[in-house]
Amino acid sequence: MALKLYNTLTRQKAEFTPIDPNNVRMYVCGPTVYDFAHIGNARPVIVFDVLFRLLRHIYGPEHVTYVRNITDVDDKINARAARDFPDLPLNEAIRKVTTATEKQFHDDIAALGVLPPTFEPRATEYIRRDDGRDDMVSLIEALVKLGNAYVASDHVLFDVASMPDYGKLSNRSLDEMEAGARVEVAPYKKGPMDFVLWKPSKPGEPAWPSPCGIATPGRPGWHIECSAMAGALLGDVFDIHGGGIDLTFPHHENEIAQSRCAHGTPVMANVWMHNGFLQVEGEKMSKSLGNFVTLNELLTGHKFGNQNWHGRVIRLAMLMTHYRQPIDWSVDRLFEARESLFEWNKLCFDAPTDVQLNIEPITDPLGDDLNTPLAISAVHGLARNVRSAKSGAEMTAAASRLRQGLDFLGLYEIQPSLTLLAQDIDQGPSDMEVRPLIEARNSARKHKDFKEADRIRDELAKMGISLKDTKNKETGEIETTWEVTR
Ligand code: AMP
Ligand code: ZN
Repeated sequence: MALKLYNTLTRQKAEFTPIDPNNVRMYVCGPTVYDFAHIGNARPVIVFDVLFRLLRHIYGPEHVTYVRNITDVDDKINARAARDFPDLPLNEAIRKVTTATEKQFHDDIAALGVLPPTFEPRATEYIRRDDGRDDMVSLIEALVKLGNAYVASDHVLFDVASMPDYGKLSNRSLDEMEAGARVEVAPYKKGPMDFVLWKPSKPGEPAWPSPCGIATPGRPGWHIECSAMAGALLGDVFDIHGGGIDLTFPHHENEIAQSRCAHGTPVMANVWMHNGFLQVEGEKMSKSLGNFVTLNELLTGHKFGNQNWHGRVIRLAMLMTHYRQPIDWSVDRLFEARESLFEWNKLCFDAPTDVQLNIEPITDPLGDDLNTPLAISAVHGLARNVRSAKSGAEMTAAASRLRQGLDFLGLYEIQPSLTLLAQDIDQGPSDMEVRPLIEARNSARKHKDFKEADRIRDELAKMGISLKDTKNKETGEIETTWEVTR
């Protein structure tokens, strides 16, 4: 199948051609682990999971390598550790913060039905490595040797002026960037846009032996972390690099500068993909506005719409909008997602999966720059096919297809969670959903396919619905009524 992706670097949608179809390589910037993941952080996790699934579908599951890192060295982490564990030595406190936050992140995103990435490297494991290959220290030393970086006051800085096409990704000239960005002023910088590759640590702060013969131990800047992890695990040039739109500048621009200059390559990754931003109830999410929502609060708490939300409902709510568009996160959106998901899963939860069916109505739109809204309308179509099936066999086939489609999108739920969804829904199933199943059962009985008729009755029973058959005295026909018994 064809795959087209929008590339931030070229500002165009183009046919995707992997460097090596036997090993398609993707890197996505992961979380900085100092606090609960918020609902905005969940967006790249879900969006790039859909892309990962699609790449595995096209090239084969063993032929895709997906790296999503954990940033576990960062000044925000240090600050949080000092605040939360003031009595512990800082390094011990940091470990407590990062270990607990990383576990929380994994627990929370597990509910979203995302596949684990192939590698999930921690930044601290790539500062210095035994083989020295693409670790942060060797990349920094290479950049200094090549004249792209310089040492000043125990810092190492990237010399932006040494790279003629710096700014290509965000499509801004150096002058524009200087005017627009909040650049850190520091007396030791040659140019205002020069950024930190390495900085000295104060006593008690996390520190590693510094590169370039700097005596004071120090720690890496944020951007070099991703260049090192991506280079070590995916090579000098790889296929796809992703993250939220806010990372385009300066983070991704700086990753590109470091990796390209150190490796002497025309690109770092061929395709750069960015998900749009998420707002909450029409406003930028912020703690001071009181509209800050963590993923964990949605899953377990009672903060949003005064109820807890199933992880797959959150996933569907996210995918209802195309990944490049901004999302306005709202309670209505969650209710809508929940209703659809509940109906779909009810229609197919025990459908057989022994035969691989054609789910092109779902994969094809995804191949057009991950058009998830179109894929979701295709799911509605598959669900309609189940409802309008004329025979038991037709219904089984339609339900299997729906199930495989949902499974592909990570939206299929097994029975216990379905019950959970059902309990959250107040009104229960409607006659519009139940009636086609009853019709199919009656038709099976008419054709003396009692096995199929019983199967449908059992399926309805699992949905908490019991049937009552009565013979119409005038016509002699069997008439079936239903009620919810659970
Ligand atoms: P951070 O931990 O802040 O580096 O963010 C981790 C990921 O979440 C990055 O890819 C960010 O671009 C993304 N992200 C952060 N906030 C939002 C938001 N409000 N909407 C969409 N993506 C976001
Ligand atoms: Zn990154």
